[in-house]
Amino acid sequence: MKNRTLLMIPGPVEFDSEVLAALGAPTASHVAPNFIEIFGQALEQMREVFICPDGQPLILAGSGTLAMDSAGANLIEPGDKALVVSTGYFSDRFGKILERYGALVTYISSPVGGRPSLDEVEKNLKTGDYKLMTVTHVDTSTGVVNDVHSLAELALHHGPLVVVDGVCSVAGEELRMSEWNIDLALTASQKAIGVPPGLALLMISPRALAAFRARKTPVMNYYADWSNWLSVMESYTARKPAYFATPAVNLVAALNVSLAQIIKEGMQARFQRHAAISKACKAGIGALGLGQVPLRSEFGANTMTAPRYPVGVTGTDFLAEVTRAGVILAGGLHPLNRSEYFRIGHMGAVTIGDILTTLAAIENALAACGYPFEMGTGVSAALKAYYSR
Ligand code: PMP
Repeated sequence: MKNRTLLMIPGPVEFDSEVLAALGAPTASHVAPNFIEIFGQALEQMREVFICPDGQPLILAGSGTLAMDSAGANLIEPGDKALVVSTGYFSDRFGKILERYGALVTYISSPVGGRPSLDEVEKNLKTGDYKLMTVTHVDTSTGVVNDVHSLAELALHHGPLVVVDGVCSVAGEELRMSEWNIDLALTASQKAIGVPPGLALLMISPRALAAFRARKTPVMNYYADWSNWLSVMESYTARKPAYFATPAVNLVAALNVSLAQIIKEGMQARFQRHAAISKACKAGIGALGLGQVPLRSEFGANTMTAPRYPVGVTGTDFLAEVTRAGVILAGGLHPLNRSEYFRIGHMGAVTIGDILTTLAAIENALAACGYPFEMGTGVSAALKAYYSR
């Protein structure tokens, strides 16, 4: 019997075998010519994946929270005003980080599963003199996707830097940094980028870099200070050795392989694949009679789905049964309703086969929990949604 489960949480996700092979290759010196070449290529490929030809990429050893911390530490000075467009737990985390560096933060929130309207955001932008606005592209606690393009367009008229938390979106949801005037986008390796956890990735626009260079006060974080990292990234890009702190050599090698795979697939094709797989998953969930956390279907992300438990089914029983069927799913995360829903991640190397397996495991668990429905309904709806494209 196969002793392997299918990991379908919203990160970490299942990884491609070539990426894992790169991770397992002998570790090079961080200043060896072969590694310098790999690091340089990874930085160049990041520009293509973030669709930001003139951006400054940073690859740091750390998780997505470090990427957020680095953005806050380097762009905020005490007393700066910041606007957080909140769609859940991770949006609020960004606010807390900015506050830690002395920002005066205004949060625009909405009920769980909703998102602040463009009108509301514009009203706030008009009245406040904001240095920076954060937008969580997909808040993984709710599965809500923000309209980053329109929000960035509003910001362009009112001046703040636009910082996008793309941890659950970059390389899965459509994000065109330069074209949409995004000043900083960040992510982590373990989601749609398709590399095991351990890398924080940032792409900094020329405007954000200028704002950093115009700082009057020192950066209050030693490791994340861009002054320590910019010359390192420039050196690797110029294929020269450099050191500030030891890079995660094996993870960078794996990243370089994954970025090449992403670029080979093509960004547009990749966005479309994520959309098609998401549509199939959501059709399956809907056919089983389960609601979803996003309050409107257009609020639902392409990288994950957040179904609500039907009446009579509890998370502990349901998730244990899903695991028994060989699939790992995540429970709810939003502090206001975490016991009411579960989360399915579908990003990176995900296939329609993974979605069908997941839906089969969900059906199995629902049946074990006594929920009445016709077996096969969810799988069948997903298949139809996927192949009737
Ligand atoms: N932002 C979002 C949208 C996330 O989904 C996560 C992780 N789930 C983070 C930030 C934090 O990333 P990490 O756990 O890698 O620190």
